[in-house]
Amino acid sequence: MYLFKRKDDLERHLSIARKEGKRIGFVPTMGALHQGHLSLISAAKENTDLVVCSIFVNPTQFNDPADFEKYPITIDQDILQLTATGTDVLFLPSVQEMYPNGLAPEMHYDFGPLETVLEGAHRPGHFQGVGQVVHKLLNLVRPDKLFMGQKDFQQCLIINRLIKILNLGVELVICPTLREQDGLAMSSRNLRLNPTERQNALHISRALYYIKDNLTKGSLKEITGDAINELKGKGFDVDYLDMVSILPDGNVDFPATPGKEPLFAVVAAREISSNVRLIDNMRVN
Ligand code: AMP
Repeated sequence: MYLFKRKDDLERHLSIARKEGKRIGFVPTMGALHQGHLSLISAAKENTDLVVCSIFVNPTQFNDPADFEKYPITIDQDILQLTATGTDVLFLPSVQEMYPNGLAPEMHYDFGPLETVLEGAHRPGHFQGVGQVVHKLLNLVRPDKLFMGQKDFQQCLIINRLIKILNLGVELVICPTLREQDGLAMSSRNLRLNPTERQNALHISRALYYIKDNLTKGSLKEITGDAINELKGKGFDVDYLDMVSILPDGNVDFPATPGKEPLFAVVAAREISSNVRLIDNMRVN
């Protein structure tokens, strides 16, 4: 695996590959890699000729400085895992390399109503930061296909829109959420949970399965209300637990109109004893 820390080295390497006719697959990450990330690498390997992974903990997408400070970093282990999975190139830039002119936004992205609901309502500025870094990375890597996880449901919709509004001409491939055996969605932030908190975190995916199993047994409001109360009783601050459906233009119908398909339950909740905020989602019909 090639490891590049500088943009120009990465661009030079990829321009040669492109001239050789190789189709490039790209998997952007913030590191602390787990099987969920590696499943994106595998999907990229199956569908393209050269797989680029980036590891960059992007400061501009963290609205909470403590969350940024505590973000897990396991770079040596990440490199071993990427090598074992057959990743061709790892891009590992510094903040200075990505933001040589400082962190202030260079442009504003018009993500429409998507930006102000759910994650957007609870993490002001988050999606502008995501847009900023993914735009920079896509301009550098210029992949044929971009691989992202459904785990970050709203992020996928935002990037879908970014690609459209900037006419970036890359295909977005959305891969399913990988879960631990007990149902907890794999997440780098799970590393911040002690064994008791890790066990408690399970209630998040349980709430989604509860909604899925009981969808026809009451109104959407009643069912989500029950799931929220259950989570609160188990020691969570619930930012949101809601039903959304995707509109043909890629926006979310929120709150979802009953009977719409596909319908997703989406949740963000802070496990109070660890103060770790986790997100998850599930298609329920
Ligand atoms: P992150 O490092 O958390 O920014 O995630 C990098 C990419 O991995 C994003 O596209 C995520 O949606 C994806 N991802 C994170 N967790 C999972 C998971 N459990 N299953 C599949 N993809 C995931």
